[in-house]
Amino acid sequence: MYPELGLYIDGAWMKEGGRKLEPVLNPATEKTLAELPHATIADLDQALAAAIKGFAVWRAMPAYDRSRIMGKAADLMRERKEKIARIMTQEQGKIIAESRLEVDAAADVIEWMGEEGRRAYGRIIPGRVRGVRQLVLQEPVGVCAAFTPWNFPALTPARKIAGALGAGCALILKPSEETPGSCIEMVRCFEDVGLPKGVLNLVFGVPAQISEHLIRKEAVRKISFTGSVPVGKHLAKLAAEGMKRATMELGGHAPVVVFDDVDPEKTAEINAAGKYRNAGQVCISPTRFYVQDKIYKRYLDRFTEYAKGIKLGDGLEADSKMGPLANARRLDAMEALVQDCRNVGAKIAAGGKRRGNQGYFFEPTVVTDVPDDSKLMTLEPFGPVAPIVPFKTFDEVVQRANALPFGLAAYAFTGSANTATAIGDALEAGMVGVNAFAVSTAETPFGGVKESGYGHEGSIEGLEVYMTKKFIAQA
Ligand code: NAD
Repeated sequence: MYPELGLYIDGAWMKEGGRKLEPVLNPATEKTLAELPHATIADLDQALAAAIKGFAVWRAMPAYDRSRIMGKAADLMRERKEKIARIMTQEQGKIIAESRLEVDAAADVIEWMGEEGRRAYGRIIPGRVRGVRQLVLQEPVGVCAAFTPWNFPALTPARKIAGALGAGCALILKPSEETPGSCIEMVRCFEDVGLPKGVLNLVFGVPAQISEHLIRKEAVRKISFTGSVPVGKHLAKLAAEGMKRATMELGGHAPVVVFDDVDPEKTAEINAAGKYRNAGQVCISPTRFYVQDKIYKRYLDRFTEYAKGIKLGDGLEADSKMGPLANARRLDAMEALVQDCRNVGAKIAAGGKRRGNQGYFFEPTVVTDVPDDSKLMTLEPFGPVAPIVPFKTFDEVVQRANALPFGLAAYAFTGSANTATAIGDALEAGMVGVNAFAVSTAETPFGGVKESGYGHEGSIEGLEVYMTKKFIAQA
């Protein structure tokens, strides 16, 4: 059921062959699923040489033909959805229903960007002198390198593949070593529909070594990273040394502002469902709940009741509503966060501890009476721990919501059109959901402000970041 793992370089799969192997674990059982080969330096150099050749072939192909290949790969992913979803749940832990949705979203963005590549129009600017043509052309930036984490093993790699290939670039992709299987199956779809060799290459290994090696190579013209703020800053510095373009999708700590003109119970249910999706391991996860004091108690009671009712279990079991955390580091991090909450006098209204002693299960947790300067309220939690605190006025909550260095997503719930407009304008974030959590689709720009990064994925912006503009003055 779980696939054989390998590197994909120049259109060929490379397995063990004396390479160092790393076990991939199922976080629900802690059992080894398979062994993943690490790329050697020679493998990386071969991937780069393949990407340089692949770029020449791919950029020369009309966008119409590229789009057809990407569309076919997306269709094949949809056909293989169940297989890929089951692999994803085994390696990452999320419930199977979420894995299925993720495969759909990954196929969607690949298809959409392939189509959008056909509309990467330039423009003509009237010349100052008669007979002079002034043309602006969009061209693919070149060979790209992308690095993705373990929380969305298919969708995040798909976004990088979609933007790069849609623009006519070649890509060397390094997904997370902890969740390689679903991305490998996605790449297989491209192989099976005839993507030219070298256009898409897949490597695994020691993340810091691979990124440093590739980013320093002159032929790599753009990098894209999704992950934590400290790693993003490090990679941005490496990119700056070579004056390379970079897209940085980093962490967040999304505030949720709930005004007292909403139905408290209904809003609490929607908010709790959003919070515990993928066990809270989502960069745009709602993570700090500010509830206006008049409805605070009713909201908190329903949220807490909802959290306590979530069935925790192996994501492959149909009745599980939340799976394990993806790795042991998250379990340690959640235990440390909850301990810090206790130390600063907060109250645990639900959950607060590991469940069982096999698998990385952590209970859906609700914390109250937690100070704004606590770890839980200031560091990205990346797990199923929800702090819920009251507020009084609009200005006060805006100040508290915007107080952190992050600016990825922010949310607000209100029954008033005026408040909806005002809070949408006031929140400092790249994506704001007002009465909605759906801020991530193929056709809308996904990206942050402040320390949450720069650049976008999805939408026309997500294509443009893989293109350069060339001006031609033709007399
Ligand atoms: P981490 O910060 O070391 O790693 C995050 C990701 O970056 C991993 O996939 C890792 O393989 C990769 N990475 C690390 N160093 C790298 C390097 N030098 N070059 C290239 N890639 C590198 O630690 P972690 O334990 O995996 O996650 C810790 C925190 O990262 C989480 O608490 C969360 O805040 C953040 N995170 C964010 C996202 C996101 O979607 N924005 C995803 C995963 C993790």
